[in-house]
Amino acid sequence: MQKTLYGLIELQEVDNRLDELMEERGDLPLIVDDLKEKLDEKSADLQKYKEELKELKIKEKELGLQIEESKAKLEKYEEQLYQVKTNKEYDAITNETESAKEQLNRGEEELSASLEEMESINQKTTTIESELENIKEELEQNTLELQTKMAATSEEENLLRQEREIIVQKMDADIIKTYEMVRKARNGQGIAKVNGNVCGGCFSYIPPQKIVEVKKMKKIYTCEFCGRILVIDESK
Ligand SMILES: [Zn+2]
Repeated sequence: MQKTLYGLIELQEVDNRLDELMEERGDLPLIVDDLKEKLDEKSADLQKYKEELKELKIKEKELGLQIEESKAKLEKYEEQLYQVKTNKEYDAITNETESAKEQLNRGEEELSASLEEMESINQKTTTIESELENIKEELEQNTLELQTKMAATSEEENLLRQEREIIVQKMDADIIKTYEMVRKARNGQGIAKVNGNVCGGCFSYIPPQKIVEVKKMKKIYTCEFCGRILVIDESK
């Protein structure tokens, strides 16, 4: 059991250093992930707008042709009107003229709506393009910063992870499980050194009899208040 307790102390030290290394990287990994996600979203938006614009351009062309056609019809009817001989003919051409005029109006209205929409999409596209530029720049900076930080610490991190693996392999799985659980719940600290007559983790009082038992290192004792595995600080 003594070995286990020393192992836990060692493990806690390794974990503390690993936590420190991760802390140094700070929010950078999260920031980089967020920026990548944003970049993807904005790029997809841009693509969508570009496709909409393409369709609107096709529509603009079609409407242009339709308008030309209506105008040509109207000209033709106007000429025909001079040559009518009967009321029936006159009525027929007037009707045709009315319907060509309506078509022309509709076409022109649709065209102007299309042009307005294109204008609005163009504005959105410009905004997104400048946003994309900013995101790319930010992503590049943060990625570089993260890479620099990782390069400076990755060797140490790898060594610590190996060391951790070796310690863990030598120890009882249940004890490691307890340690991990408490560590998670107690801000990274799975063990606590007995400090005088208090728990070094939560500063709760520990009865003298329990301290005697902890010192014997025959069993695992946990602090009844914070649940941390109690160990003896031999430097004191
Ligand atoms: Zn405690």
